[in-house]
Amino acid sequence: KLSNRLEAVTNYIPPGSRVADIGSDHAYLPCYAVKKGIVPFAVAGEVVEGPFQSAKKQVKMEGLEKQISVRKGSGLEVIEPGEVDCITIAGMGGALIASILEDGKRKLASVQRLILQPNLSAISIRTWLIANGWELIAEEILEEDGKIYEILAAEKGEPLKPYKNKEQGLLMGPFLMEQKSEVFRNKWIGERENWERILLQLGKAAYSSETEKRKQELKEKIKMAEEV
Ligand code: SAM
Repeated sequence: KLSNRLEAVTNYIPPGSRVADIGSDHAYLPCYAVKKGIVPFAVAGEVVEGPFQSAKKQVKMEGLEKQISVRKGSGLEVIEPGEVDCITIAGMGGALIASILEDGKRKLASVQRLILQPNLSAISIRTWLIANGWELIAEEILEEDGKIYEILAAEKGEPLKPYKNKEQGLLMGPFLMEQKSEVFRNKWIGERENWERILLQLGKAAYSSETEKRKQELKEKIKMAEEV
């Protein structure tokens, strides 16, 4: 059975699109999407030999070699320009996801939708999307096995449209802030406690302009968390 996290990612794939799943590991996501009839064709990209072999093995075992092309390479270098309409990147840090998109920019011309699932630092992704003309169209937050995950879906459009308060929205997600789900609240209660703890530690540190700056940043973040 596919994890709830990856199943949630596939919910945002427009049916019928050709999809590339980057950092696919076992290729569970493309296998599921093809078997469910959501997509007719998928590329599974992997940069590391072990996971690349796992992906090939899985695709073969499921008899999906005609529909899923497993390719070895970093980021978007595994796809040809115009080859896919949708890209999924899941289970990595937000900064890594943003750098994969940045490095592969010229492959994005034909891509209609990005579905990104950062394990942390979704802010890096929102920042990249805004800088590159992608508009967030949906966000979801979910908890599985004690971990909290965010899913961000974007299409080309007006990148600032979803944001009422940009700074807060970048950190917490404009849609997630509106939904204010229980998972969302728990996440930011947890983060706030974390920041309070760091602040307390910094309070004991010797004075320096660096610590003062850090303290100020933390106070601002704590305030933002309190507001939501
Ligand atoms: N996407 C799957 C998921 O969400 O369950 C697998 C996540 S796994 C933690 C991250 C995978 O990304 C690893 O298999 C790693 O080898 C791969 N990866 C990391 N950097 C990559 C890159 N630049 N290009 C392609 N794959 C990459």
